[in-house]
Amino acid sequence: MRVTEADLEAANAKLARCSPEEMLAWIHAAFGERAAILTSMQRAGAVLCNMAERAGLDFDVLFVDTGVLHQETLEARDRLASTHGHLRVKTLSPDKSFEDQTRERGLLYLSKEGQEACCALRKSAPLHALAGRYDALVGALRQDEGGRRSAIRPLGLDPEMRALRVHPFASLGREALDAYVAAHPDVVVNRLHLMGFPTIGCFPCTTPVRPDEPERAGRWRHLEGVAYCGINPTDGEPVDGVELPERVIDALDGLRVLSPGR
Ligand code: SF4
Repeated sequence: MRVTEADLEAANAKLARCSPEEMLAWIHAAFGERAAILTSMQRAGAVLCNMAERAGLDFDVLFVDTGVLHQETLEARDRLASTHGHLRVKTLSPDKSFEDQTRERGLLYLSKEGQEACCALRKSAPLHALAGRYDALVGALRQDEGGRRSAIRPLGLDPEMRALRVHPFASLGREALDAYVAAHPDVVVNRLHLMGFPTIGCFPCTTPVRPDEPERAGRWRHLEGVAYCGINPTDGEPVDGVELPERVIDALDGLRVLSPGR
């Protein structure tokens, strides 16, 4: 069945009244092993994983290793895998090493067009190789990140993955994240966050950020007009509609039952 953003409105209105923990519980109950958390091992993603772990919810956790990540990010991934026993951390990799890609196509990340190709090859393609495997991908995007993310709703559509995107932190503020991390010392905080990196990506395209700059100023600082890598459909143009399996429609219908009184 083809589903549009407008079709998600009722479900979104209902989920908008749920806490992140309630949303995670619904996703787990509704989709089971056909749901996964997608994280790049930044702070909000680590909080999401910690909430799932504390609730005893077993999820696959998908992590794309572009081959040019900081050692601290890989170390955070390993720490998550060894301390969050309910989560199954799965590392996805591009077809080619960064060296082979550069030998064949040059240093793509040095131009805007090249960056689009590089991010498509090294970030999006490894995830899209799993299209059809999952019905729901859970991420930690927030409206208060600004830009295109200011319009994020709890549910979105992913045409490439033929799946729902779920954003339990859509309306969560930065202060609430800070409070959660302060109260839960077992959250795996990427050490780069303590070194002046409010957001983290590949090392060639990420720099520290001054206190007077926006949070994402350190992403693709060398390229004017680049804000996102493209792995999250909500960062791109609005999605027309996506053909989703009946079981996903049933799960959305089930919201009526799973959230009595809301
Ligand atoms: Fe390539 Fe930079 Fe994108 Fe990483 S962030 S995939 S290095 S363009």
